[in-house]
Amino acid sequence: MKHQPERTCIGCRSLFKKDEVVRLIAGPDGLLIDYREKLSGRAAYVCPKKECIAKALTKEALGRALRLKVRPPDVETFLSQLTASITEKIKELLAISMKAGKLAAGYSAVRDALEKGRVELLLYACDLSDGTREKLSVHSRESIRHETLFTRDVFGGILNRELVGVVAILDKGLADALWDQSQRLKGLINISE
Ligand SMILES: [Zn+2]
Repeated sequence: MKHQPERTCIGCRSLFKKDEVVRLIAGPDGLLIDYREKLSGRAAYVCPKKECIAKALTKEALGRALRLKVRPPDVETFLSQLTASITEKIKELLAISMKAGKLAAGYSAVRDALEKGRVELLLYACDLSDGTREKLSVHSRESIRHETLFTRDVFGGILNRELVGVVAILDKGLADALWDQSQRLKGLINISE
């Protein structure tokens, strides 16, 4: 693993790897989420957790970190923006995985991939039936990471299909990236298991 510089979250004051925190920049019209880390200027960092964001989005915390006066955005608005950015990133990664032929979608394709031991990450739709989930878990090793997010309809939309209840990622790097983003999303919203 490559070494990453550490950043302090202005909410909890703990140190994190660069990839684990969200970069904030003071823009001309207020605070900006620099999700792609492309914007320049003095930055503040916050971990993508509700509690930390609430603590970070105060005049005092932002003023200290950015060394200038910034009107803190509304926490709920900020959370929904951040949730939207992370969701967008996940959709992009899924589309990339599909184009690269590193994604299996739907029950039979995922079961085949599991039997061949090719699965790096399993993503279940939250409205997938317990029965289907259980049938797949028979083929799944304990060590395979899995997460529940989106609905069958949303997965279907990303993959140009009708409804997709389960997706398997077959590449380690893409699986790692999707795992990181889904954990970020989990810190922001409550995904029902
Ligand atoms: Zn924090």
